[in-house]
Amino acid sequence: MTRTVVVAGGSGFIGSHLCERLLDRGDRVICVDNLSTGKRANIAELESRPEMRFFEADVCEEFGPDLRNLIEDWGLDAVLHLASPASPPAYLARPIETLDVGSRGTRNLLHVAEAQGARFILASTSEVYGDPLEHPQTESYWGNVNPIGERSVYDESKRFAEALTMAMHRSRGMNIGILRIFNTYGPRLQPSDGRVISNFVAQALSGVPFTMYGDGSQTRSFCYVDDLVTGIVAMLDSSEVGPINLGNPIEFTLRELADVMAELCEVPLQITYAPLPSDDPRMRQPDITLARERLGWEPQIDLRDGLASTIAWQRSR
Ligand code: UDP
Repeated sequence: MTRTVVVAGGSGFIGSHLCERLLDRGDRVICVDNLSTGKRANIAELESRPEMRFFEADVCEEFGPDLRNLIEDWGLDAVLHLASPASPPAYLARPIETLDVGSRGTRNLLHVAEAQGARFILASTSEVYGDPLEHPQTESYWGNVNPIGERSVYDESKRFAEALTMAMHRSRGMNIGILRIFNTYGPRLQPSDGRVISNFVAQALSGVPFTMYGDGSQTRSFCYVDDLVTGIVAMLDSSEVGPINLGNPIEFTLRELADVMAELCEVPLQITYAPLPSDDPRMRQPDITLARERLGWEPQIDLRDGLASTIAWQRSR
């Protein structure tokens, strides 16, 4: 049976890979994106597929008649909510929009799913753990977020989205699943995105030093996008409520990342140091026991292999 899935934020970095995977397995995909940070180019090759529809629309507003009619026509099995600015510079530049998409946007999408009896998957984030006092982070950790700090526009928006999604599950019996996604990288992470991997690749390819915020002793754990998408699809196909962490548990300091990147790009290691952004987490590493046990998922792709594909993609542009 053909399934129909709405992917909100489907033109973004992770969303576009997810649309592709769902189409490849025979699902019908309705991609909804306001192109605030998503790129139409990310889905250009998918748009010619008969099972794919793109709507330029803001999920903070109710769906228009064309979109509603298509859902009536095709039916709806699931809504995947990945719509949000996600890179720190992107959400810091769009603070109100970021809070809106986690609150009003989540509410609208929950109502769309509820009206059709569809499963709702929320793409939440490791940022709900803030600057964590527990390491690695398990799903039972409540986090350490500064509620009025600059980053709170993203962190609290996602925390609210989780609360709303759980409330719809508890009070109205909705079929929901919450994923907490850790740092992800791969092709289609825009060179202008502002995240560390795309910045380092762009800098290496232009022959300028890496911009290191702080002393480079902070840690992150980087998951290749293909692995991540496998985890999202496993969650979609399950009846798990979550929250479930998705990320690669292999942790690196940024200094180690810079070393690997210089080696893979075949450039000498050069670093320019800049101040650490406010509330930048000191460390981050997912505990993925739940994902292993409940979804049978764990990442397969080694950092060096994933970075090689990412570098090749950025170089080809
Ligand atoms: N970072 C850096 N140089 C850059 C971009 C980011 O040193 O050009 C640091 C950033 O301060 C953070 C880490 O790299 O400590 C990961 O940042 P990113 O924006 O990729 O993701 P985050 O985990 O902060 O959401």
